[in-house]
Amino acid sequence: MKFSVDNRGYYGDFGGAYVPEMLHPNVEELRTRYLEILNDEGFREEFYGLLHDYVGRPTPLFFASRLSDHYKTRIYLKREDLCHTGAHKINNTIGQILLARRLGKMKIIAETGAGQHGVATATVCALMGMECTVYMGQLDMERQRPNVERMRILGATVVPALSGNMTLKDATNEALRHWINRPTDTHYIIGSVVGPHPYPDMVARFQSVISEEIQKQLMQKEGNPYPDTVIACVGGGSNAAGAFYHFLEDEHVQLIGVEAAGKGVDSGHSAATTVLGKPGVIHGSKTLLMQTADGQVVEPYSISAGLDYPGIGPLHAHLFQTGRVSFQHATDDEAMEAGLELSRMEGIIPAIESAHALATLKKNQFDPDDVVVVSLSGRGDKDLETYIGWKPKNDE
Ligand SMILES: *Cc1c(COP(=O)(O)O)cnc(C)c1O
Repeated sequence: MKFSVDNRGYYGDFGGAYVPEMLHPNVEELRTRYLEILNDEGFREEFYGLLHDYVGRPTPLFFASRLSDHYKTRIYLKREDLCHTGAHKINNTIGQILLARRLGKMKIIAETGAGQHGVATATVCALMGMECTVYMGQLDMERQRPNVERMRILGATVVPALSGNMTLKDATNEALRHWINRPTDTHYIIGSVVGPHPYPDMVARFQSVISEEIQKQLMQKEGNPYPDTVIACVGGGSNAAGAFYHFLEDEHVQLIGVEAAGKGVDSGHSAATTVLGKPGVIHGSKTLLMQTADGQVVEPYSISAGLDYPGIGPLHAHLFQTGRVSFQHATDDEAMEAGLELSRMEGIIPAIESAHALATLKKNQFDPDDVVVVSLSGRGDKDLETYIGWKPKNDE
């Protein structure tokens, strides 16, 4: 299959496992065991059981009729915003915690930037009665206080990362250091399709439940499992990988990935990795990342914390390079407008991350009978302050 990982952990030129010698045993154990565990009948039963009873899956595929009228095409929203904890991230944390138990590991560590992956991890640790330690940059802890409190209420220990810029990269380094010292009893839950092989493939498989459901739901509603277009926002790329997964080999399905342009691609305040990035190694894999001429990672910027990541997963780097996915971008302003538009037209306040996907509806030409599926990756409750504080440009 053209877009599957090969047995060395590569998608074309991208991927692999670039980890320090001391982490090799941990990553190697995962690599040799993950497929056998994921394909095990008992594992699948438990995974789908929890997705159904705890997460609330299948999430609806909602035909957005007013939005469809407005854009003169047929738009469906895949409602990941209705998942327990408010976004798709929990699909992956459920999968990984079940995997950790199969590996005999009772302690969990994670890194988090804005805190959303940390909350999803703390949630499943509480569910399973497992010890949870989340590393978070000190600066991010100050900026995202409510999520820090949420994790603590759920029983997790939040450890501030005090090195570097005290943000996500530093939290990741601390988590890796922790893992090196406790390889036998601890599993590291990574939150997107990033990191050393097999993480990108493993996380994509857990999130692929999104496109599995889209196919079934479109079959019921349209008599055809294939949409014309699927649109998803891309931070690290996990909701997009999940929404695209079962359509990757069907090249008549158009796939659009939307990155955050921040204040504009050329403004110096952006997270549009496919435009600004070059091949390099970040978080254990070779991929596209935003870096200076001498290879220092450039701090990304976006109004949405979930898209504020300097790289993209290696699968997406490959999908970009091969042209299978059309990568587009939306600015802060475009996303905010699209988020408010959906709120008023359909009564759904989306996460600002998801609003980036919605913002591309007006930039693409669709036929009136096209079926366009947008991945609504999360809900906007966490973003209320930003929505309240935002003033449209022409009102100033
Ligand atoms: C974290 C997050 C994202 C970005 O992560 P991906 O791995 O690219 O999916 C997008 N939307 C929401 C709501 C998120 O919480």
